[in-house]
Amino acid sequence: MKKLKKILKYLVPYYVNLILNFVLNIFQILFSVFSLLMIIPFLRVLFSQEAIVTVKPVFSFSGKAFSNIINYYLGQIIETYGKKEALLVVSIFVVVMILMKNILFYFSKYVMVPVRNGVIRDMRNSIYKKILELPFSYFSEERKGDIISKMTNDLKEIEWTIMTSVEMLIRNPLTIIVYLITLFVMSPQLTIFVLILIPVSGALIGTIGRSLKKTSRRAQDQMGTLLSKIEETLSGLRIIKAFTAENFVFKNFVNHNETYNNTMNKVYRKNYLASPMSEFLGILMITGIMYYGGSLVLGNQSSLSPEAFIGYIAVFSQIINPAKAFSTALYNVQKGAASIDRINIILDAENTITEKENAVEMKSFEKEITFKNVSFAYENAFVVKNINLTVKKGQTVALVGQSGSGKSTLVDLIPRFYDITQGEILIDGKNIKNIKIDDLRSLMGNVNQEPILFNDTTRNNIAFGSENIPDEKIIEAAKIANAHDFILQTEAGYDTNIGDSGTKLSGGQRQRMSIARAVLKNPPIMILDEATSSLDTESEKAVQDALDRLMQNRTSIVIAHRLSTIRNADLICVMHKGEIIEKGTHNELIKLNGSYKKLYDLQIF
Ligand code: ADP
Ligand code: MG
Repeated sequence: MKKLKKILKYLVPYYVNLILNFVLNIFQILFSVFSLLMIIPFLRVLFSQEAIVTVKPVFSFSGKAFSNIINYYLGQIIETYGKKEALLVVSIFVVVMILMKNILFYFSKYVMVPVRNGVIRDMRNSIYKKILELPFSYFSEERKGDIISKMTNDLKEIEWTIMTSVEMLIRNPLTIIVYLITLFVMSPQLTIFVLILIPVSGALIGTIGRSLKKTSRRAQDQMGTLLSKIEETLSGLRIIKAFTAENFVFKNFVNHNETYNNTMNKVYRKNYLASPMSEFLGILMITGIMYYGGSLVLGNQSSLSPEAFIGYIAVFSQIINPAKAFSTALYNVQKGAASIDRINIILDAENTITEKENAVEMKSFEKEITFKNVSFAYENAFVVKNINLTVKKGQTVALVGQSGSGKSTLVDLIPRFYDITQGEILIDGKNIKNIKIDDLRSLMGNVNQEPILFNDTTRNNIAFGSENIPDEKIIEAAKIANAHDFILQTEAGYDTNIGDSGTKLSGGQRQRMSIARAVLKNPPIMILDEATSSLDTESEKAVQDALDRLMQNRTSIVIAHRLSTIRNADLICVMHKGEIIEKGTHNELIKLNGSYKKLYDLQIF
């Protein structure tokens, strides 16, 4: 039930529909109870058991009074028209009731449709929003495939299990309660006997339900792993083939698939247990009632007339289905609860990079970026240590050093992709933790080694994140980025779809696209992380031209592999194991004859 509470939060906005459903259900149940009870007078007319009530009885809320009223009117009909006609009236009465019941049934379902779909839509939106909010650090812990699995499989699972059950959980207890009250009015003795039987079967069903939930959760986790494998394979197909590792990954996949298969076997086996078990329990109860009720009818101070007993059984038999459906619904909720748990892992994940309540606006960059004793660790080991650095407006500052020395990490700290562990970073004297995150990130543009592009048109990739950008601006940005010419050569120009992550373009073209995007954003600060490192010499030249133009009149932090590209930087920092070990202009560092000189000499030859 704790799990139900979690879904309740999502149901709240749909309370109107839920109330409507509740009301429609009540009427529906009343109609079916009345139509069932009509069996009793029907049988009575057939067997003419009792003297017809001739005095109009006073109305009260008791079974006896109720049956007296029906008997009275029926008596009137029999007297004036005859027995056959009375049967006809009873039959028409039943038909009308059942018709009403079914019309209400449809509308009670009708109002639940927007709830069922809406809750899933809301959850999907919440997860997506959360993905956008969560910091990078979260995603280095989670597998991509698992997140996708949560947004697809687990949501489907919730829809199929819990959302179909919500209605059952409203309707069936109601039905059961109304029927039980009816039964109680008909025969208190027999009903108490029934009430003892119900909890016993309930406990039995609950045990299996819990066990099912555990297995089901395991299955969903395993599905997440499987999807991760598929996702990894799709993006790593090139390497898999190059290393002829097909058999290796296939074996690995088969193993995981087999594990999933075995768990699912258990899930279905436990699931299928629900139906036969509840059927058997139901029959067990009916037989018990037949026996006990029968002996009441035969008993001395016969507290139950035979036709009332038949009516009783008719009403009771109608409890079995809702009780079954209720226990199935509980099963399903247990099964779906596993998926809710999995989804909540994302939804409840703490966003460690948050904006302060009194965060200040910052719409422009005026003076400088300052690193003061900045240290950072992803986990335990410090990757960036005690950095002191000032980047003045208009300057180009270069970071060089071995791979793994912490350059990318250092620049990721400025837009707060990760929050620093010690020290502070100031922009124009304000700690970045006190600046509105959107404002902070709007101040800078990124061009990375691996350009990140989306499966969309050229135009939308350049304009990414903004709407209604006039064509001239996009073309202008593309021209600055040396991209205009090759874009025009593609089949549909700016409307060409560039494929998944831009696979239809060459590396250099992709990089120029991402530069055009940065140009259009036009931020005062540019961060270039090895933007030309993965390019061949020829496309490097085109990209470097574009970068030079991009950096004009801007403050730039450039991570460079090839030292030739940063010769003219105002300040070059050499990083080693997270620290800045040398700082100065190209000429100064050459004169210093230290690490930079060594790197430089290596690259010259
Ligand atoms: P560089 O850009 O200079 O090549 P990085 O900043 O990418 O170096 O990496 C510095 C160190 O931080 C490396 O030792 C790397 O293993 C580690 N590192 C990078 N990213 C992560 C991460 N997301 N989680 C944990 N460690 C990381
Ligand atoms: Mg790097």
